[in-house]
Amino acid sequence: MNLFDLSGRCAIVTGANTGIGRAIAAGLARAGADIIGVGRSSMDETAASISSTGRVFHALNADLSRVEAARDVVAQARALGAKPDILVNNAGIIRRADTVDFTEADWDAVIDTNLKSVFFLCQAFAKAVLDDGIPAKIINVASLLSFQGGIRVASYTASKSGIAGLTRLMANEWAVRNINVNAIAPGYVETNNTQALRADAERHADILKRIPAGRWAQPDDMAGAAIFLASRASDYVHGTILPVDGGWLAR
Ligand code: NAP
Repeated sequence: MNLFDLSGRCAIVTGANTGIGRAIAAGLARAGADIIGVGRSSMDETAASISSTGRVFHALNADLSRVEAARDVVAQARALGAKPDILVNNAGIIRRADTVDFTEADWDAVIDTNLKSVFFLCQAFAKAVLDDGIPAKIINVASLLSFQGGIRVASYTASKSGIAGLTRLMANEWAVRNINVNAIAPGYVETNNTQALRADAERHADILKRIPAGRWAQPDDMAGAAIFLASRASDYVHGTILPVDGGWLAR
């Protein structure tokens, strides 16, 4: 038996058009899962890479800054005839400003997308799989700022610290009901999310110096952890926040 085989499984991946979400969607598909990509931008590139693995790909249009849209994702997936049993909450945004100047708009935008919508999407997904009596896996995308304070990213730190707490809370309630809830905490990954950091030569060099692995991550570095947390290899893993950070937190 291949513990990491995802054949016959179906994964919802939010923010699957780019960055970490696209890499996780492609990794889950390579391991055998069909994919429902959820987001507000074109998923054509993701669709092409997943179709080349022979797996089925559906794109669902949803603006996850709106909680109603997040709540509706599972019903929309089911309307396609799919019965997703893996949920990857990857979509997320970041806003940077000095804390004394941080605006309510930047607070609300990040909390709504990164925390509130994630919670209500998890809730809708859990209701559906519990009704069906099928085992399922939820994988949240946390951050180093689920463990550390960060700087100039108040709402992001609050959202990702909240995600760590909710991951543990949901695991406590749902582990006994055959839903595994865990999170991946990526280190510094070369995506749109970190464009501003990478554009600041001094910050970029400071970060690089501190990463034991000696390099920033590529989105594909996150795929293995996602396959593990989606597969039966992690059946007894509940409520953990798995850093995939090149050793950053060990330092
Ligand atoms: P990214 O390239 O900016 O991707 C973010 C994804 O979220 C995109 O697909 C984006 O879609 C989607 N998204 C944002 N707002 C949305 C909305 N309202 N509705 C639907 N989709 C929305 O950044 P990334 O680095 O891959 O980020 C993925 C996740 O990893 C995020 O949760 C982020 O916080 C987390 N993370 C990243 C790093 C890092 O170093 N990069 C580190 C730790 C954690 P659009 O393209 O349409 O905007």
